[in-house]
Amino acid sequence: MRHEPRVLVVEDEPAIAELIAINLRHNGFRLTLAMDSASAQRELDEVLPDVILLDWMLPGESGLVLAKRWRAHPRTKSVPIIMLTARGEEMDRVAGLDAGADDYISKPFSTKELLARVRAVLRRRAPERVQGSIAVGALLLDSETYRVSFNEQMLKLGPTEFKLLHYLMTHSERVHSRSKLLDRVWGDHVFIEERTVDVHVKRLREALGPNAGRMIETVRGAGYRLTTQTEALVSA
Ligand code: CA
Repeated sequence: MRHEPRVLVVEDEPAIAELIAINLRHNGFRLTLAMDSASAQRELDEVLPDVILLDWMLPGESGLVLAKRWRAHPRTKSVPIIMLTARGEEMDRVAGLDAGADDYISKPFSTKELLARVRAVLRRRAPERVQGSIAVGALLLDSETYRVSFNEQMLKLGPTEFKLLHYLMTHSERVHSRSKLLDRVWGDHVFIEERTVDVHVKRLREALGPNAGRMIETVRGAGYRLTTQTEALVSA
């Protein structure tokens, strides 16, 4: 299952927007372009991207104002923001980071640097969106080949169970509420009952088998957690 990360590019200079779009598309990203703050806000209301590339100097509201607003809003506050700017002064860098930007690229930039920084914020803020294999204990998941194994034994998972396990493995040892799992695994703007999560957790445990299945703990009144610290595994 290849998940192409979505990038919202807010940039009013067509040549730069085009350069970014060509390079990111070529490297497996899905692009949305916005030329000003109003259309950026519209795009954001529509679909939540995985990363925002935000130009500082825009017609209308500046990138700085937008970054502050998006950071303050519960729906957008955890979307990584990389500021693009011709300003390289230290004071500006501080202002950008203060406004909630995760990183900062000064124009002119190389496309290699751009890619490296986009991948770095994704890895930091949304590791489940970066391709590759993940290991938690004896559980191994490869998101490129869509394979899951436990103690080197291949397991068969349905697509939703795979996504759910992917999320739990990239955020292991933490408790996730049902509503958070719905948001992160089923996606934004999807209205499904929280009970659905329980159904898929049950299926996932069954697919994992008795040993690996125990790694998914039900935390009463809170949600679910993937852990290598289960009593069953420790005492086994
Ligand atoms: Ca500009």
